Amino acid sequence: MSQVVAGGIEAAYREKFRSSAQLYERGCRVFPNGVTHDGRYLRPFPVYIDRSEGSKKYDPDGNEIIDYWMGHGSLLLGHSHPAVVEAVVRQAPRGTHWGANHELEIRWGEWVRKLIRSAERVRFVNSGTEATLMALRLSRIVSGRRKVLKFAGHFHGWHDWLMPAADAPYDTGNWRMPGVTEGVLSDLVVVPPNDLEATSRAIDEHQPACVILEATGGHWGMVPMRGDFLRGLRKLTEEKGVILIFDEVITGFRVSPGGSQGYYEITPDLTTMAKILAGGLPGGALAGRADIMNALEFDNPHGQKMRHPGTYNGNPLSAVAGAAALEVVATGEPCRRANELGRRLRAGLNELFVQKSVNWIAYGEFSMATVLPNYDGPPSSGDDFIPCDNSLTQLDRKIDPVLTHAFRCALLLGGVDFFGWRAMLSSAHTEEDIDRTIEAFSGAIDLLRADRLIP
Ligand code: PMP
Repeated sequence: MSQVVAGGIEAAYREKFRSSAQLYERGCRVFPNGVTHDGRYLRPFPVYIDRSEGSKKYDPDGNEIIDYWMGHGSLLLGHSHPAVVEAVVRQAPRGTHWGANHELEIRWGEWVRKLIRSAERVRFVNSGTEATLMALRLSRIVSGRRKVLKFAGHFHGWHDWLMPAADAPYDTGNWRMPGVTEGVLSDLVVVPPNDLEATSRAIDEHQPACVILEATGGHWGMVPMRGDFLRGLRKLTEEKGVILIFDEVITGFRVSPGGSQGYYEITPDLTTMAKILAGGLPGGALAGRADIMNALEFDNPHGQKMRHPGTYNGNPLSAVAGAAALEVVATGEPCRRANELGRRLRAGLNELFVQKSVNWIAYGEFSMATVLPNYDGPPSSGDDFIPCDNSLTQLDRKIDPVLTHAFRCALLLGGVDFFGWRAMLSSAHTEEDIDRTIEAFSGAIDLLRADRLIP
């Protein structure tokens, strides 16, 4: 097979992850590119996982890997948290799908209501994508309006309505996407993040049904949105009578037990959730104002009902896993711990980057971290610091894929799996994990230099 990453890194990677190379060959005969999620694609091949526990996952060759994917952000409590495992193991023989109402879904929904300040009513779905899809349809029914306003660089799942304008480049203003029709695009209004005036003008011009945003900024804070903007947006949408949707699929139960809205004490009209919500099993939810959510009810005052089926809505396994996870989250300790470790990781990485004279910077908030390569601005002054004056096009830009793949492989050689250039922490990570991660970064920088991929 031809070399696809870089000399030294690729050779060592092929040597260390032999079983994964074999599995990838099999996988490629089944799946396009051998993967079941675009983000899991890695050249020359992805690492396959066999089991996991706490902050670690293990490949079939027995290599231990400190994990910063954490189930795409769903595992705030770490892999296989005992409370979640016990709930699932106890439930499985009692039934995985009753096609009926059950107390477990009520218990799960009650946790959501208890923790999420906007959640007067809740409806379970199966993913974040479904939750944002439902939020839009409901907003259209209740407002009688058609358009949707989103922010450039905000990701809300992969359905047609919100996938456009989720990824760089942004400076072209062309949001066409293969397979998404012009009709759908004509109902989408895209506004630059952190610009209240532009948002206000766009609301006046387009009269949208709703405004949706990622509740700490695009791609979970890669381009941060903080309290002042969020509060300003709440005030603006209230004044203009537009439904405000906080997408808390990532931030819900992570930033604080009450999500970003709990942390900033802002009450949106609707909230979308998934991931931590279901304790690492598939699940999602839309929650919000009772007088909006009642468009799901038969004979509601809007005169139109939003029809909502869904085979796996509120299924017993996700319900027990979710309720078990939320019960632990409600103590506040997992968020506090993961946030503390996030700070330690960001600070440790920035120290290392200075020490190794590499032009990278780590930034982020809460239990999320981003590493930005090719950075030439001032050093970080702590967690309030946002590089590049929070510029969308500088913080969220296409990075050379050869460097990106080599970087991940180089880190994996040091026993660390970063979420691309990013990291999601859990309460199961330890100080030792962070120290080992910084060592792995040091080794990866040396390898990238040896392969002449970074100066
Ligand atoms: N919204 C946000 C903010 C997300 O990050 C994601 C997924 N990463 C989604 C929605 C879609 O969630 P799902 O993958 O469960 O469909």
